[in-house]
Formats: sequence, C-alpha cells, structure tokens
Amino acid sequence: MGRTIAASAAPLPQTAPAVVIGGGIAGAVDAFHLARAGIAPLVLERSSQLAALTTSQAVACFRKQWDEPDYANLVIPSSTFYERFAEETGLSGADAEIGLRQQGWLFASCAPDAAARMAAFVAATRGLGVDDSEALDGDEIRWRFPWISPSVVAGAYRARDGWVSPYEVVRGLVRAADGADVRTHCAVTAILVSADGSRVVGVRTAHGDVATDTVVLAAGPFARSLAASVGVALPVEMIRHHRAMVTPQPEIPAHGPMTLDTGTGAYWRPEGGGAFLGMGQADELPGEPLDPVPADWMFPALVMDAASTVTPFWGVVAGRVSAAEVSVAAGQYTVTADGRPILGRSGIDGLWLHTGDNGWGIEGGPEAGRHLVSLVTGAVPDDAEHNPYRLDRPGVRPGAARGTTY
Ligand SMILES: Cc1cc2nc3c(=O)[nH]c(=O)nc-3n(C[C@H](O)[C@H](O)[C@H](O)COP(=O)(O)OP(=O)(O)OC[C@H]3O[C@@H](n4cnc5c(N)ncnc54)[C@H](O)[C@@H]3O)c2cc1C
Repeated sequence: MGRTIAASAAPLPQTAPAVVIGGGIAGAVDAFHLARAGIAPLVLERSSQLAALTTSQAVACFRKQWDEPDYANLVIPSSTFYERFAEETGLSGADAEIGLRQQGWLFASCAPDAAARMAAFVAATRGLGVDDSEALDGDEIRWRFPWISPSVVAGAYRARDGWVSPYEVVRGLVRAADGADVRTHCAVTAILVSADGSRVVGVRTAHGDVATDTVVLAAGPFARSLAASVGVALPVEMIRHHRAMVTPQPEIPAHGPMTLDTGTGAYWRPEGGGAFLGMGQADELPGEPLDPVPADWMFPALVMDAASTVTPFWGVVAGRVSAAEVSVAAGQYTVTADGRPILGRSGIDGLWLHTGDNGWGIEGGPEAGRHLVSLVTGAVPDDAEHNPYRLDRPGVRPGAARGTTY
C-alpha cells in the first residue's frame, strides 16, 4: 500500500494482465477493483495527469435518493464506499482524505402537485432501502434552510448525501490499487484484436505496443470512437454540461446542502466559501468528443437566474458579482437512451466496457467498477439475469424512455 501515482519514467511493459484505457473516475475504480481481484492493471491516460477531463469538471455530488432499482443498486453502495473510503481502500491519514462533505441533498419543487410527487419519490427510495430520506413541506424546508424561497411547496431530502473531491478520490483509488502501473502522457492509439477480430490481443501507444487479453475501455467521451475503431458500436452520445463557480459571497451558506430545483434542473452547492452551480440545457445538442471542452461565458448568468427561483439570493449575487468573481467550465456527459451506464462485454472477447455515465459517474462509480470487475473475473455471469447494464439490453438504443423521476 502507499504507492504514488506519479507517472513512471520506465519503458512501457510489453505485456500486462489487463489494460485500463482512461484515468478518470471510471478507470480509477476499475483499476482499484481489478487490483483487489488480483489482476494488477496497466492504466493508460492520455493527459498529463489523472482525472483531467470530465472527472475534473464534476460538481461531484453523490446521493442515495434514487427511486429505481438499477440506479439504486449502483449509487447506494457507492455512497457507502465514499463514507468508508479509508476502510475500503486501506488508506490512512491524508491518503484517505477525499473531501467528503455530507451536508445533504435537497430536491425542491414549486409545482402545485409537489407534495404528492415528493411523497411518492421518497416512498420509492425507502422501498429500495434508503430509510433516512425525508419528504418535507415548504415550511419545514425553510425552517431548516431559511434562504429557500416561499414559492417552494415541497421537497425530498437526505442529510447524509453530499459530495467529494473527485481528484482526491481518483488519487486514493489508484494509490490503493496494489501493483497497478499508471502511465500518464500515454494515449492508446489503437485497440489490437486477433486476425479474425474475435478477441483483444493488446493496445498500441506512441510508446509501443502492450500485449494483453483484457482491456477495459474507460475513456469517457472518447470511448465511442475507440470502440468504433474495432467495430463495436456504442449507443452513447456526448452532451456538454457546464459548471459555474462563484467566489465567496456573504449570502452563500457554507453549511448548506446540494439544492436542486426539480422544475428548472438548476442546482448549486457550497464550495470553498463560494459555490458551484450547474444545470442541464435543453439547447445542448449531442456532439463529438472534445478535449478541452469549450465553455459558454453566458452560462453563469443563466444558471444564477434559474437557481434564484428556489434560492432567491442567487438573484442578488448575480446582480452584484464582477466577472472576476465568476468562472465557468464544461465537460461532456456520455449518455445512453435509458440513462443507465454500459458495463460489461463488448462483443469482442476480452474488451470490456465502462461507459455511458449519464452525468452520475461519481455517484455510481465505485459500485460500477466493482460490478464490472465481477463480470471480468467471471464471479458474476454477464447475462440478462445478472447484468442490467449490458450492451445488448433492451432500451439502451435511442428511443427508449428514462426510468427515474429525478
Ligand atoms: C458540469 C458537470 C457536473 C457534473 N457533476 C456530477 C455530479 O455532481 N455527480 C456525479 O456523479 N457526476 C457528475 N458529473 C459527471 C461525471 O463528471 C462523469 O460521470 C465522470 O467524470 C465520467 O468519468 P469517466 O472516467 O468515465 O470519464 P473522464 O473523466 O472523461 O475520463 C476518461 C479519461 O480517458 C482519457 N482518454 C481518452 N481517450 C484516451 C486514449 N485514447 N488513451 C488514453 N486515455 C484516454 C481521458 O483523457 C480522460 O482522462 C458531472 C459532469 C459535468 C460535466
């Protein structure tokens, strides 16, 4: 235990028990669980550091409040994993520090039928074993969080939901992945397959080829093009999402929860005395994978305006802050038609998929990695009965409906 994640200067090995392509949260959880299963992987990351692409842009919230089993089965154990990060990884002290803040997650609604909808949502989460989620009326919400608007009718809340520092999580997981060999500045330029195309035999990089019979594709927005290069069609689209950051302002409560307006989709949470804000935008169209992802400087104004419906102080802050107090970044969600990730076989023996994060790769990541590795090792059969996230499931192709309320 206690290895560093500095890029090795040694020549690339010519063979590896497994290769993980990508050093974001997906690659890190896969590397961790592979190492735990006795398969110490070679992790290849194109950028100069880990967690540099989508993972670095995340608002990085996690929650147990889900109302659908296939999601809950990923996010509930993942939340527990973050709570127990030191025990799960064997790390201690600063190595186990992941910026865990359990300040709660509030879904707030101004809709006339909010009380009934929130009660049904909370009942569903409780039916899935989340026994500390709460349905709150508007007065109860404002009693706990006095900055919330009088127009909020009802909400759902769980006090132990929260957020992490995604870079710290990735760093910790890779440190805890005993025997893993991590290389940055090392793009995979090709996945190598057998002459008949039926099985994976290695990867190609600018630093040489590595022979392996196990490749985990965890390349975030770039997974689709890498898979396509060996004839695997991934039904994923890349959609840009922004994150605004506002420097400390007197109105922002440092102890406040993650707060999401179920009407507009705008959300915010405290960060370093200031706040992160985010929102899905209806006019964002699917696009090609990007690195870096350009950001729209109008976004902070848009999201503060939207967030002010539920949290009116955002209107005050928006009217006062200077450009120097606001920054904006963007990343790409990798989305599937049914909102579930793709975990499992690709159709080429030895090529495994961890993609389709749908914007919740942090909150579901640890359990997604554990599940994928249980498929890789054969501990769990990769079939319809045991793997609801498989590539050939009904509904993963465009046209399917999403299965959760929020
Ligand atoms: C604004 C925003 C807010 C978000 N907020 C949340 C949140 O609150 N909670 C949550 O759960 N999720 C959130 N997400 C989503 C979360 O960030 C993603 O689900 C997650 O980071 C995806 O991780 P990944 O490892 O699959 O992809 P990435 O982080 O993109 O990692 C893929 C890696 O693969 C590397 N790579 C690509 N091609 C190659 C190659 N050929 N060779 C080698 N390496 C390669 C890339 O450089 C990259 O580092 C948010 C995302 C955004 C954009």
